[in-house]
Amino acid sequence: MLLFNEPETLRMAKLGRELRAQGIDIIDLSLGEPDFDTPQHIKDAAKKAIDDNWSHYTPVAGYLELREAICYKLKRDSGLEYTPDQVVVSTGAKHSLANTVLSIINKGDEVIIPTPFWVTYEALVQLAEGTVVKIRSSLKNGYKITPEQLEAAITPKTRLFMFSSPCNPSGAVYSKQELEGLAEVFRRHPNLLVISDEIYEYINFCDRTESIAQFDWMKDRTIIVNGLSKGFAMTGWRLGYIAAPKEIAKASEKLQGQFTSGTNAVAQRAAITALTAPLDATKAMVKEFARRRERVLELMREIPGFEFAMPDGAFYAFPCVDAYFGKTDGEEVIKNADDLAMYLLNKAHVSTVTGSAFGDKQCLRLSFANSMENIEKGFARIKEALAKLS
Ligand code: PLP
Repeated sequence: MLLFNEPETLRMAKLGRELRAQGIDIIDLSLGEPDFDTPQHIKDAAKKAIDDNWSHYTPVAGYLELREAICYKLKRDSGLEYTPDQVVVSTGAKHSLANTVLSIINKGDEVIIPTPFWVTYEALVQLAEGTVVKIRSSLKNGYKITPEQLEAAITPKTRLFMFSSPCNPSGAVYSKQELEGLAEVFRRHPNLLVISDEIYEYINFCDRTESIAQFDWMKDRTIIVNGLSKGFAMTGWRLGYIAAPKEIAKASEKLQGQFTSGTNAVAQRAAITALTAPLDATKAMVKEFARRRERVLELMREIPGFEFAMPDGAFYAFPCVDAYFGKTDGEEVIKNADDLAMYLLNKAHVSTVTGSAFGDKQCLRLSFANSMENIEKGFARIKEALAKLS
């Protein structure tokens, strides 16, 4: 039987909740979801769906109207042409990723994942009995890998490359030119597939998120993973999807047909509205994230020893905190980022996530999916607690 650790993001959220239940005022900077409510027009569509009796089993791959809406969205936002038979709707992007990895990866296949990466990627590859090959990105390169690094990591066993842009946790966003550099490497390795996790697509502070599927020679080998959790503040609705080559969509549908069947009917009907209506509510949310990001950058500059790249997307800061390793407050010694995250939780009452959860032991992930007031308070506490370490 395979045993996995609980994702560190969920563990920190749970520890924070436990301390809060004891009456301790915890500031949560570990959150991986927008602190906004789902926009009203989407909630109205869901209410109508209930009244209209969308209450039966749904097609495994999702309602045709929803898959058409996804194709419309892909064309509108990324200029990409897909047909509904290339789309599979699932119970969150996490589920889409699981379906895809399990459909593609056989025992011993190598999967290249740049670090830092989202917690679940590695576990899914292990579940499929594949081998994870990590490429280290660095602060110096803005947490993006180079074509040379990619080329050097490819072996005859490589089957898949998997990444998110915007990236959780680093906030790195690959430009069109940078993606083209990677795509040129894939051109030389035609058997390699790519999972492009675009769940933070709308939450970017640059012009727009580019997809690696835009290059002609990439589209037939790229699986776009996306969902409604982040861009529409719909984490609890659990709706994700892939747009993929037909045979991968088919395999994913078959697998899903045995595990969960089609996704929740009401969430699907609401998703049609979310994906086809104007994006005003999303844009307003992103504007607020941008305002907080500016403040977070200012606050991080005030903390001695924090080194960081500008997050161009998502809602996380990912400072390198190794300047504090080996220091003590007189009671405990901070050996690594795990210790620092626990120190901040227990002594400063701020919950963060250790970078080791994302394959980077030097960093902490600090979410700005929290109110400006809590961000200010949280950073003041962090600064004070870190000043006690020597
Ligand atoms: N991909 C990345 C990079 C994420 O950060 C997350 C959620 O945190 C997901 C996928 C999964 O999102 P969903 O809520 O749609 O399962």
